[in-house]
Amino acid sequence: AKSAGGNRYEVADAEADARAITRHGLTTALPAALDRGEFFIEYQPLVHLGDGTVRGAEALVRWLHPQHGVIGPDRFIPLAERTGLIVPLGRWVLEQSVRQARDWQERHGGTGAAGPLRVNVNLSPCQLTHPGLVQDTVDILERAGLEPDALCLEVTESALIGADDDLLKPLRRLSEMGVDIALDDFGTGYSNLANLRRLPVRVLKLDRSFTQSMQQFPADPVDLKIVEGIVSLAHSLDLAVTVEGVETGAQAEQLRILGCDTAQGWYYARPGPPDRLHELALVDATG
Ligand code: C2E
Ligand code: CA
Ligand code: CA
Ligand code: CA
Repeated sequence: AKSAGGNRYEVADAEADARAITRHGLTTALPAALDRGEFFIEYQPLVHLGDGTVRGAEALVRWLHPQHGVIGPDRFIPLAERTGLIVPLGRWVLEQSVRQARDWQERHGGTGAAGPLRVNVNLSPCQLTHPGLVQDTVDILERAGLEPDALCLEVTESALIGADDDLLKPLRRLSEMGVDIALDDFGTGYSNLANLRRLPVRVLKLDRSFTQSMQQFPADPVDLKIVEGIVSLAHSLDLAVTVEGVETGAQAEQLRILGCDTAQGWYYARPGPPDRLHELALVDATG
């Protein structure tokens, strides 16, 4: 038993080493990856729960690593945050996504009840504290010719916990310009619901854990009450509610009945190339 335990430790150490080397390797490869154009963006549709139309998409970045293939953001965004690369990388994602939204709008015509297609872009906490955020965003929107109200910036709830006025000022300015701010992963932190009034936020993105609890039928009555409560509070504060991680029609229906406004998840579409969104939106427009 003792030697088996020893072995297990060796294996664990070896795995930890491999992970560390990979992490180190990935970290050192990150800056060149941006220069070499190894990042790309997939878009996942945001669907209106009331009428099922595609209203826009969330931009999700990926890294096509020459040796390791496609690497997901959960593996490299934290590294980019630690090294500061997240600022130029995030700016690149914003610029690409804004241009893409403009392109969808031009091809799609922005007709129909759904209005022009919009794009959601994730902001890391480092970008929030970076002094160039507002001006960069203004420049990017102007260069692309996209209206500010076609852009929504997603900020995690944890990034805004205990936020002081200095942190909120750039978000307020963006919000005054017409850019929507969404509170991402809502419900995962120590949500201070009263705090919502202070934040320049238009949208709550309910974390996937809430959607998961709608999987069983009938769903847990307490979970239902919680979501119902969040939705009614959000609406009374003039906030829209988006739900993420919708994987089944039953979840979509349950969340629609609970009053959620917009949904996102594999049930509608996995994240995919930009032309896919255009096609999905086109289906809506033509019936
Ligand atoms: P997030 O912002 O919460 O994005 C939602 C994640 O859920 C995405 O993972 C998406 O692919 C995944 N997802 C969507 N629908 C479903 C579903 O029905 N079921 C399940 N199980 N998952 C679903 P992804 O693409 O791996 O991104 C992970 C996280 O990486 C994002 O979480 C976000 O925090 C971060 N991220 C992605 N792109 C960027 C970026 O450009 N900048 C920054 N700062 N962070 C990013
Ligand atoms: Ca997000
Ligand atoms: Ca989220
Ligand atoms: Ca998340």
